[in-house]
Amino acid sequence: MKVPFIDLGLQHKLLKEELMDVVSGLIDSGQFILGEELLSFEKSFADLCGTKYAIGVANGTDALFLSMKALGVTAGDEIITAPNSFLASASSIFLAGAKPVFADVRSDFNIDPEEIRKVITDRTKAIIPVHLTGRPADMDSILAIAHEYNLAVIEDCAQAVCAEYKGKPVGSFGNLGCFSLHPLKNLSACGDGGVITTNDEDLYKNLLKARNHGLKSRDECEFWSYNSRLDNLQAAMLNIKLKKLPEWTARRRDIAAFYFNRFSGLDLISPKDKPFEKAAYHTFIIQTSKRDDLKSYLSEKGIDTKVHYPIPIHLQEAAKYLGYVKGDFPVTEKQSGEILSLPVFPELTDNHVEYVANSIINYFKK
Ligand SMILES: *Cc1c(COP(=O)(O)O)cnc(C)c1O
Repeated sequence: MKVPFIDLGLQHKLLKEELMDVVSGLIDSGQFILGEELLSFEKSFADLCGTKYAIGVANGTDALFLSMKALGVTAGDEIITAPNSFLASASSIFLAGAKPVFADVRSDFNIDPEEIRKVITDRTKAIIPVHLTGRPADMDSILAIAHEYNLAVIEDCAQAVCAEYKGKPVGSFGNLGCFSLHPLKNLSACGDGGVITTNDEDLYKNLLKARNHGLKSRDECEFWSYNSRLDNLQAAMLNIKLKKLPEWTARRRDIAAFYFNRFSGLDLISPKDKPFEKAAYHTFIIQTSKRDDLKSYLSEKGIDTKVHYPIPIHLQEAAKYLGYVKGDFPVTEKQSGEILSLPVFPELTDNHVEYVANSIINYFKK
């Protein structure tokens, strides 16, 4: 049996006719930039996240970057994030002119609020908690710290659309929430895309201009800015996919529940949701000191797995100028050598999931 890590063809096969219809309609109408479909997607996405506003942008990295710009981040500011995230959580800070400062994570792969406290200085401007793997970060503690030190909070929700913390969707806690619609994310465009959520009307109005050259009307430019819009074609397809998202998320949660159940008693770590968390399972990660050996064993069995991520951001060549060294973030560093992401995409059949679980059980029993 072959089990891929993800199969986008399968997802689109079921929706192809509907997708092609809206694409064909738009090609006839020529409504490619800032059209009705985008407005409608933004409205539905804000509803999904329980926020007043959503702004479509070109990708998740721009969502983070433009959010920092909207908050007035400038040179000399420090912004705290997790070193075990996808690198864009940190590169966007650099691109906004600020300095990325890292705080280590907990056993559930999310940023540790106590570690955040330790790295706050009088230059700290904001915290970017990442809801990594699709599990919500410890928002109560993070918001309390932000309040205490008067810091902004930008949630990196790139992996976490539909995740909930204490009954509320992620993206509705911070000043701003940033989502990626990259093809590999839980809600994906047929190409690149991103969204920013907020309840703040001023930030919303600023971001509508900031993603569109700083234009406040067709001919009047208020400030120099970027061209970072979400394509109307993408929005039209996303409106179709959005209807499927609850079903897809439920399937991811079912697969995760099945894995948890089958893995109990095995010599591996796999953090479960706490009672007040509802993870979206962008990835399903297990942690074991036998990671590399298990990965090749599964590969021989036809099962594709990945590592998210093998090199922590603070140890990347690009981050050298920040002066971090090996040993600075022991939890992140240990995890990076032991974590393995299993297939968890919604189109997996029960047979596939069973086969993955059995192969892992067999590995640990051999
Ligand atoms: C994917 C991702 C991003 C970047 O999103 P893009 O749409 O690829 O620019 C940022 N942060 C995290 C945690 C991600 O997983």
